[in-house]
Amino acid sequence: MDIFEWMKKDGYEQILFNFDKETGMRAIIVIHDSTLGQTFGGVRMVNYASMEDALWDAMRLAKAMTYKCAAADEDKGGSKAVIGGDPEKDKREAYLRAFGRFVEMLKGRFITGVDLNLDLTDGSIIGKETQYILARPKEEGSSGSSGVTTALGIYTGLKACAKFLWGDENLRGRKIAVQGLGAVGEPLLEYLKEGGLEVIATDISEKTLQHLQSQYRFKTVKPDAIYDVECDIFCPCALGGILNDQTIPKLRCQLVAGCANNQLEDEERHSRMLHQRGILYAPDYIINAGGVIQAIDELQGYNPARVKMKTERIYSRLLQIFETAKKENILPLEAANRYAEDRIKKIHQLQRLYVPK
Ligand code: NAD
Repeated sequence: MDIFEWMKKDGYEQILFNFDKETGMRAIIVIHDSTLGQTFGGVRMVNYASMEDALWDAMRLAKAMTYKCAAADEDKGGSKAVIGGDPEKDKREAYLRAFGRFVEMLKGRFITGVDLNLDLTDGSIIGKETQYILARPKEEGSSGSSGVTTALGIYTGLKACAKFLWGDENLRGRKIAVQGLGAVGEPLLEYLKEGGLEVIATDISEKTLQHLQSQYRFKTVKPDAIYDVECDIFCPCALGGILNDQTIPKLRCQLVAGCANNQLEDEERHSRMLHQRGILYAPDYIINAGGVIQAIDELQGYNPARVKMKTERIYSRLLQIFETAKKENILPLEAANRYAEDRIKKIHQLQRLYVPK
């Protein structure tokens, strides 16, 4: 497809191809929509098989960020950056700093934070060249890892799902199958323990699984078996694309709610498939917004109490989305998309009121 036609179809504003002649650093920055203000989106480093793969990844993630920021009631647009490279070999200082310089050139039209295959130390290195990177180490006056805040948002969201599905937000005794015990999955275990849920968990890292199992005493299953676990809630906290033609028929739960980004392999097809199977789906970008809320808060001077308050609003946002979906006979994902699109339109229209500077 013609790239401009593609941009037109899904409302993209700008795509920047960045290449540093000295280090060979190549990165794509996609700005999807800046109607609500400066745009925010993480940066990931992946050894993509082709430029098309990298571009496609950046484009779909940038669009999802527009929806995530809008639905979290943040006045920020959506964007994303991908750096092409092998995380084992290419995470060199000059390579990362070259990326930072390209970010700085955009003067805050694009603000970033580290994502897949990049850690806080890498964020710190990129931050030597640009002021427009959030969620760096706490020691640098930043807010640090967002895993705990995202986990709080997931737990708060689970309570809203329970209220809608079962008429009671109390999760005690509910069975939850957790896929992935990383930066979000691990702190989530603490909330699940406090809430009295029965946990069945998996991780591809046997070491992680053993270590956390001894601490939290949950049942474990092999990674491929997690979809077959009979439970109330399936909670994906690892990869995207895990809700697809192969996995959905296996699920034996009433609710899918977790932190992984882009959980549905095909949004339309697989959100409908879940619905047809009688499984409630909590739209990923609504329930996992805690991390974005934390990062964006830094722009006002990081305030943990404010971050907690805003993250806990995921409860009412999700309930509102489920109620709208029920009333209008649409899917929760459609109701979420409508909320985000409507908010962008309405807030944009406010600019008709002239305010003297
Ligand atoms: P992470 O890399 O720290 O943890 C992911 C965990 O999943 C690791 O322990 C890994 O071993 C495990 N894993 C990978 N593949 C697996 C598989 N096939 N089966 C079982 N376990 C597997 O990542 P994270 O920060 O915890 O994020 C998890 C997901 O949530 C990602 O999709 C991420 O994009 C999304 N997310 C994270 C945040 C955040 O604040 N960190 C915010 C929003 C969304």
